Amino acid sequence: MLIVQKFGGSSVVCPERIKNVAKRVAKSSEENQLVVVVSALGDTTDNLIELAHQITDLPSPREMDMLISVGEQISAALLSMALHQEGKKAISLSASQVQILTDSVHTKARIQEIGTKRIEEELAKGNIVIVTGFQGITEDKDITTLGRGGSDLTAIALASVLKASNCEIYTDVEGVFTADPRVVPSAKKIERLTFDEMLEMASLGAGVMQTRAVELAKKYGVTFHVRSSLTETSGTIICEEVNNMEKLLVSGITMDPNEAKITVVGLSDQPGIAGKVFSCLAENGINVDMIIQSSAGEKRKNISFTVAKDDLRKALSGIETLRSQIEIGSVVSDENMAKVSVVGVGMMSQPGVAAKMFSALADKGINIDMISTSEIKISCVIERAKMEEAAEALHSAFGLDKE
Ligand code: ADP
Ligand code: ASP
Ligand code: MG
Repeated sequence: MLIVQKFGGSSVVCPERIKNVAKRVAKSSEENQLVVVVSALGDTTDNLIELAHQITDLPSPREMDMLISVGEQISAALLSMALHQEGKKAISLSASQVQILTDSVHTKARIQEIGTKRIEEELAKGNIVIVTGFQGITEDKDITTLGRGGSDLTAIALASVLKASNCEIYTDVEGVFTADPRVVPSAKKIERLTFDEMLEMASLGAGVMQTRAVELAKKYGVTFHVRSSLTETSGTIICEEVNNMEKLLVSGITMDPNEAKITVVGLSDQPGIAGKVFSCLAENGINVDMIIQSSAGEKRKNISFTVAKDDLRKALSGIETLRSQIEIGSVVSDENMAKVSVVGVGMMSQPGVAAKMFSALADKGINIDMISTSEIKISCVIERAKMEEAAEALHSAFGLDKE
């Protein structure tokens, strides 16, 4: 059997952990052919980004990729050496050696094609193949990276093109939990989740999987297993369908501390104004999350919306440029916001989920600023300082702390 295994940064944080990974990989290589994807050691990527910002506020994205892609090369080489110590044949390969071809959108490149020839040759020679996660290469041989958490994407993409029998994502928790177990201690491990639920949880802040990786897994039907690199316990299987899904109303609670809110006050109440505001944001490459429009007296309206905290400054300066085109009163912003969400395919046909959520927040005296819903989630924007308390309250209101 061919298996793709991915080890995240926390699983290779130091030489001892790398040796531990090597022992695990060596053991499973006795029965399987293995392609192993690794992330950079611990906080390496964060530290490299910090280093760049000590040189300049606006580093060139191309040079940024030259810089942050090195972390994965370090761990790939070290893991290969550790496997040699275990008496195994292993070889590390970079994205360029594998031919993980991407577009040239630096720091968030998209995979276009993956060569399988070199990997297959090395497997045929009896090697365990270690591939740098997160990295790609353009047609012009420029190095790219796949967005934060992108080693997950490398693993899913490789599992798909190599038609692997299994794809295992090893991390520092035992699987996907009903809430981040570091924040909600009573969170329980979920046995199985659908791609759609995992996608929704990831995009709403469950940082255990990169959202784009889950999107790809859904698109190509790559079932994957999220589990711990430190224990043998089985983790969470993410797949197309889950049999007992009707039993679960809500499968998880997610948190996203990264929300900033902007209110544009005193816009004129006529067709085309909202279009101008949001076109301006789109032209600046800013993703808008929730939107609320309210009337502000005669022929005036206010529009409030949320953006990622990192985009706040860019959004505000974009809106200032609109003053020459449309009438704007004041612009107010608040970056101390967060989003809490309840997610579950089971809520699709069930009334009362919203009522339960809002009451649970009210019982804790937590004010809801904005609300958005889809078939399988309800999200509320609240004050950042109340985020953890809100998550705990929702977790117990929906009975997720019970077996
Ligand atoms: P890796 O280095 O292995 O890629 P990450 O830090 O990216 O690991 O992801 C694992 C972390 O995700 C956990 O330590 C946990 O705090 C966090 N996390 C957030 N939400 C969840 C959740 N619902 N279930 C499990 N882990 C979660
Ligand atoms: N090292 C990269 C990051 O920190 C990729 C990953 O960990 O998946 O974002
Ligand atoms: Mg990760």
